[in-house]
Amino acid sequence: MEERWVYMNGKYVKKSEATVSIFDHGFLYGDGVFEGIRVYDGNVFRLREHLERLYESARSILLEIPYSIEELEEAVVKSVRKNRLTNAYIRLVVSRGVGELCLDPTKCSDPRVIIIVDQVKLFPQEMYDKGLEIVTVPTRRNVPDALNPKIKSLNYLNNILVKIEANRAGVGEALMLNSDGYVAEGSGDNVFIVKRGTLYTPPGYVGALDGITRRAIMDLCDRLGYEVKEQPFTRHDVFVADECFLTGTAAEVIAVVNVDGRPIGDAKPGPITRRLLEEFRKLVKVDGVQVYPEKDEKTRS
Ligand code: PMP
Repeated sequence: MEERWVYMNGKYVKKSEATVSIFDHGFLYGDGVFEGIRVYDGNVFRLREHLERLYESARSILLEIPYSIEELEEAVVKSVRKNRLTNAYIRLVVSRGVGELCLDPTKCSDPRVIIIVDQVKLFPQEMYDKGLEIVTVPTRRNVPDALNPKIKSLNYLNNILVKIEANRAGVGEALMLNSDGYVAEGSGDNVFIVKRGTLYTPPGYVGALDGITRRAIMDLCDRLGYEVKEQPFTRHDVFVADECFLTGTAAEVIAVVNVDGRPIGDAKPGPITRRLLEEFRKLVKVDGVQVYPEKDEKTRS
């Protein structure tokens, strides 16, 4: 297998030799932020938006990223090129860095910036064709005034608990409600429902990540003439929806056909979900930053 290279604060290190200290506060306390990004046919999908969200997450927790957004953009593109991949998953992590055995982040003076590029693990096509059966779980979404779900932090324990509960219920994904009982999001994806041709997705204040895929879907809906309302909704609204789907960098657009034992619509991926997936798969190849522009020129001529 080809050697993979990991970017670590300006240097490329072999994957087998890329390590972080056990005193890194990302490891000790989950103190840091991250992004998951996809490359489709050499196009880093909405790289700028991912980086902007990373910088916003960092700003919110007073973590200063020691590079400009342009420098990091270049580092991501170079990392993909160095690993010679055209379809890939990128994990960009910024941790508070090495500190003492105490929470105080002022004891950490050197944030770690890490870019891992690897082959993407695709969801089986069958999942898109058949749709997912999911559940809602007892674990509620973090309340925004404790740890705001808009911060994509290294503290994913809330989401991990949801994943554990989903696994124990025998399904692959689950929906979290917020503390008021409104549907917030999945463990790693945003949620939409469709009712009488209109799409609904929870607004940010309900407590969800401002997903890049969610935004892309809203842009596509705008272009295709579907109305989207950012409006809180309950489990009941999901049960009686015509369609339901999840969006995320890993999942893309994936239909949900059963929630808590209730079939959604006719328990098959619905026409709007299918259309959006089709359009999304075109968009991801062109909307973003090209890693191999020379190759692109050749194919165009
Ligand atoms: N919510 C959570 C909790 C997530 O971890 C993710 C994945 N990053 C998403 C939603 C979807 O966001 P995106 O479309 O930016 O991947």
